[in-house]
Amino acid sequence: MLKRGSTIGIFGGGQLGRMMAAAAAPLGYRCIGYAPEGDNVAAPLCAEFVTAAWDDEVALADFAARCDVVTWEFENVPVASARAMPQGRIFPPPAALETAQDRLHEKRFVEDLGGRTAPYAPIDSRADLDAALATIGTPAILKTRRDGYDGKGQWRLHSADDAAALDLPDAPTILEGFVTFAAEFSVVLVRGQDGEMRVWDSTRNVHQGGILSASRHPAGPQIAAQIGEARELAEKVADRLGYVGVLTLEFFATADGPVFNEMAPRVHNSGHWTIEGAATSQFENHIRAVAGLPLGDTRTVAGKVEMHNILGADIETAHTLLGTGDTHLHDYGKRDIREGRKMGHVTRLTRA
Ligand code: AMP
Repeated sequence: MLKRGSTIGIFGGGQLGRMMAAAAAPLGYRCIGYAPEGDNVAAPLCAEFVTAAWDDEVALADFAARCDVVTWEFENVPVASARAMPQGRIFPPPAALETAQDRLHEKRFVEDLGGRTAPYAPIDSRADLDAALATIGTPAILKTRRDGYDGKGQWRLHSADDAAALDLPDAPTILEGFVTFAAEFSVVLVRGQDGEMRVWDSTRNVHQGGILSASRHPAGPQIAAQIGEARELAEKVADRLGYVGVLTLEFFATADGPVFNEMAPRVHNSGHWTIEGAATSQFENHIRAVAGLPLGDTRTVAGKVEMHNILGADIETAHTLLGTGDTHLHDYGKRDIREGRKMGHVTRLTRA
């Protein structure tokens, strides 16, 4: 168990790190962030912030020496940087990054554990794409295997003509059959160093243009019927990886049952509602897990909870949302306002 006053290192400088650092403070820990130059909004919430390249060996060694334990808030941290931290003092295990950073590996990993995925095929050439389209058909989605997020690095192929017109990206990709789903949801769980697991209620996640726009509790009957199976898979993934911390698996609720979409080896946007909506937030439980503390109660504390992301310039008027009901604003403090960029979120609770 980490002593009070210990230092937790966080790779990545985004809003997830900012909310993690905010959760670490009341537990008596200080955080040091580490990320390359950028709009590192976690920095003001960290005691110190190291701005250095991911492959800066001197900076990494210095960071490791100053942290009692290290975690990450950003899933594209190079595996080599995570492995540069002393074994047993980085959580989750770097193998989780390795699995989740490649859509092909994560699908195979999950299938091996009995999970259901969309039909898929790795694509490295035009011939691969033609062969895959012949079996998977259209509509389909071509996705880069690595580095995609919020719908970036994805091309929707509605017909063979779309595929013929597409300039294949200069990176390994995967073709996925388009899944017909009733709704989307995620399983957010936390696993402690002793293997204990707790899971939050699954919300219904609504995406627009590939970006999460809202998560809602209760998730509704279609999702409720599939949560058990999805949780079982998420728990198997966490056990197989010897995972420590918060892990998220995203699913489509379909007529055949839950179809695994992707996993995030970290706290997740679809768990932001837990800050006010659950007895212990995903951020606090992540810190508790990496610090070796007992995990907190994950139960939902309101009858209804809704989280909405605030994108782009909408952040400038977001304070007006606070005038109604039991509403809470989280402004990430980002300087550059860009269309579609996640700038903050609001959570609205109905207690009853
Ligand atoms: P991803 O980045 O893979 O999570 O994709 C972002 C969003 O695009 C998902 O949350 C879905 O709304 C949609 N999407 C991704 N893959 C598929 C698929 N194979 N079939 C249908 N919709 C998908």
